[in-house]
Amino acid sequence: MSIRLDAFMDLYYQQEVTVMERDHMELRGKLQQLLGEFTFPHTVASPRRIEMEEFSLYKRERYLIPSLKGLMIPTYILTPKSNNKTFETVIALHGHGYGSKEIVGLREDGTEDTDEPGIHQHFAVELVKRGLKVFAPEVIGFGERRHSKDLANNKANSCYSLATLLLMSGKTLAGLRVAETRHMLDQLKKFSDVDYERVGLMGFSGGALIAAYSAALDRRVKATVLTGFTNTFKGSILHTNHCIDNYVPGILRYGELPDYISLICPRALFVESGLRDPIFPIETTKKAIDELKEIYDRLDAKEQFTFDLFDGKHEVSGRNAYDWLASNL
Ligand SMILES: [Zn+2]
Repeated sequence: MSIRLDAFMDLYYQQEVTVMERDHMELRGKLQQLLGEFTFPHTVASPRRIEMEEFSLYKRERYLIPSLKGLMIPTYILTPKSNNKTFETVIALHGHGYGSKEIVGLREDGTEDTDEPGIHQHFAVELVKRGLKVFAPEVIGFGERRHSKDLANNKANSCYSLATLLLMSGKTLAGLRVAETRHMLDQLKKFSDVDYERVGLMGFSGGALIAAYSAALDRRVKATVLTGFTNTFKGSILHTNHCIDNYVPGILRYGELPDYISLICPRALFVESGLRDPIFPIETTKKAIDELKEIYDRLDAKEQFTFDLFDGKHEVSGRNAYDWLASNL
């Protein structure tokens, strides 16, 4: 008698996932360990501006921000035109696609995108229009930060080669992206118009993964918007094939995805998801939301958790999220 593979996988999942009452500090430590540690030098060179463009409501600059081991993070910085001396600030993290240009209103070739926006909905531009200063880093593995052979072959991203190298050294690509985001939080101090006490994260899809784990680990993040991501591992990345950058060895041993997202509690969290998202299906998004609600209630932070399920697919909506982020920073 043989056991069918799907039954075996269900059983294996049930035995592997340990969702137990555990101390937030302990789970945070586990998450950091599973993602892998990346050490940044204490002092790095100053960010260098390479582009500047003026619009009626904001200016768009591009900086090269030094990262670890000689890496540079090309980063668009959108600043509202206003008399304010400091601004509430958001790090905006794009998902799979052509990189940071996709969220700041540019086409892949760098020209202004005046067409109907794609699934990223130019969300960094929407945020600057609400008075927030926005940093949109090129996430490693995308856009200009692809492997040279992937750039030459116009391959969409370098997730595979980066992730496999890191996995074989006992680390993860998710971990490197989280580490760079936390490094970016440090680098915000070099911009005198950033209100460092009021910093948030907004991420879409793979960018929401980075935002979720970064906010979970780093209490400097005051408010977080996760769009097109919140789910259970079982219902999303174990349900359909996702990019290898989603898979963190050992992560099931200490909890399911909502447990890790709940490390953001009691800080402000907004979850949005499309009702017709095929890769982060709504049934398990609702399950994750119920669990997050329960945890926020239990920790007496009910009003800090908000969500919006909109009639859409795997895309950004922002219909409530943008204003929520502006008022929660
Ligand atoms: Zn990827």
